[in-house]
Amino acid sequence: MGSGNVILDAIETKKVGGELSDGLIRDVVEGYTSGEVPDYQMASLLMALFIQGMSYGETLALTRAMADSGKTYSFPECVDKHSTGGVGDKVSLTALPIVAACGAPVAKLSGRGLGATGGTIDKLESIPGFSCELSEERFSRQVEEVGLAIIEAGDLAPADKEIYALRDTTGTVDSLPLIGSSIVSKKAATGAGYLLYDVKRGSGAFMKTTEEARELAELLVRLSEDLGIEAKALITDMDNPLGSAVGNALEVRESVLLLRNGPAPDDLKGEVNHVATRLLELKGISDPEHAVESALSSGAAYEKLREFVSAQGGDAEALEDLPVSSQVSEVKSPREGYVAHFKASGIGSAALALGAGRVKKGDKVDPGSGVEVLVKPGDPLEEDQPVARLYGERGAEHAGHLVLEALEISDAPVDHPPAILDSL
Ligand code: URA
Repeated sequence: MGSGNVILDAIETKKVGGELSDGLIRDVVEGYTSGEVPDYQMASLLMALFIQGMSYGETLALTRAMADSGKTYSFPECVDKHSTGGVGDKVSLTALPIVAACGAPVAKLSGRGLGATGGTIDKLESIPGFSCELSEERFSRQVEEVGLAIIEAGDLAPADKEIYALRDTTGTVDSLPLIGSSIVSKKAATGAGYLLYDVKRGSGAFMKTTEEARELAELLVRLSEDLGIEAKALITDMDNPLGSAVGNALEVRESVLLLRNGPAPDDLKGEVNHVATRLLELKGISDPEHAVESALSSGAAYEKLREFVSAQGGDAEALEDLPVSSQVSEVKSPREGYVAHFKASGIGSAALALGAGRVKKGDKVDPGSGVEVLVKPGDPLEEDQPVARLYGERGAEHAGHLVLEALEISDAPVDHPPAILDSL
């Protein structure tokens, strides 16, 4: 069948709620990736999939077809983690050097961020010289020699890249099966054998409720397992930013402090230790809690970060004192009370206003800009107490208003909310 008939057949079938066969899904994905299927027909199919929903069989077939649409790697011995993204999320930067130092090799694919702050690649690129553009050969060699390598998506799962860009402009992003297949196709193409998903829920995340996050987590685990990956998932809080730093170089600085076993916010420390422990458990490493503890206290985890940064062209010496913006101002509490909430979405918007993220694809981020949150939910507050520090050349006044709007103050004491809400 020509691709004109294939795509029309798929649209007609889905329009009336029918089921697409595995073969038809593969033909559509191949046709779209090769350019034979035009955007307007693919957009029509995506909207039909969005409205009619997709069976699990269709979702799995789409995941497989997108995973196979370009180059595929195989690292069956390696672990990886994937976060659905959040404000101040530096768990990849910290947990991965820890597990690599404990003998679990990591082969990871990362992206750039769209929205509040950068993705892991943007954060790492705030280190002078660092690059995630590795050849396949260099990526494999580094996984073997250093035990930790991070690569940019490049030619892995090109169908997902094309389809995601089309979803972004056609109102078809927030569909559970389309999100699940998009995430897992990239993971399957990278080929790590063990995966931990960190599904965030809350104001600063894609999924707003724990129920939505659980549904996505279950789908991610099921798709991964059916593609031969051993997978688990966590559901974590993103109503408040994670740790203190939000912004690329600021987050690397906070990560360095944690890996050097220095002072770090409790919520961040707890989540990083938990993620690292779960990854080691998945890989079957014995006494994982103790392994994580000693990788941190012996300095092995920080040494692994330095080795990884150097291997990818970065200046490891610069990690000790990464430059951030010299334009700094403080935001102060308008009254006394207790921090009820420091809304992640508002802090994310403030970081974006200061230049730490992208409004649209291709925007340049200012690596030294961002927000440092100085108080956490549950903390007592005095009037005029500094609650946040703003870094950046632009947007500070607007960012200051956004930070104050994000700060919810209670008259009565408030409990610290847990960072980890569920695991499966
Ligand atoms: N992240 C992805 O990689 N894909 C989606 O569809 C949504 C978030």
